[in-house]
Amino acid sequence: MTTSEPDCLFCKIVAGGVPAEIVREGERVLAFRDINPQAPTHVLVIPREHYPDAASAARAGTGLLDEIAAEAHAIAEAEDIASTGYRLVFNTGSGAGQTVFHLHCHLLGGRGMEWPPG
Ligand code: 5GP
Repeated sequence: MTTSEPDCLFCKIVAGGVPAEIVREGERVLAFRDINPQAPTHVLVIPREHYPDAASAARAGTGLLDEIAAEAHAIAEAEDIASTGYRLVFNTGSGAGQTVFHLHCHLLGGRGMEWPPG
């Protein structure tokens, strides 16, 4: 595990080199609005440290996934979508739609959701 990858877009957002609309900042996690929102609320919650995906952070025993879920819920409450419901998504692997290989959780809400997702 390395803490930062020079070519990683989200590491650059963490470092402040790429601008983003920050929603919440924690010691280990950061949340910012997705540049191409798929719902009225579409926030990405990421660890400051670089892990390529959720599984790698879980394997390392970081506890980050718990923290990310708790952070996402706090954001959902702040955006007033916690009571109506929201979706958390960890795309894992390019076949599942992952395009940025720095662990991130999509928090989506503020509209009706269908199942199964596309
Ligand atoms: P993935 O497809 O890897 O699960 O999600 C990556 C997400 O990052 C996409 O929803 C995409 O819109 C978002 N994204 C890509 N580039 C940027 C950027 O420069 N800034 C922000 N805020 N979001 C980005």
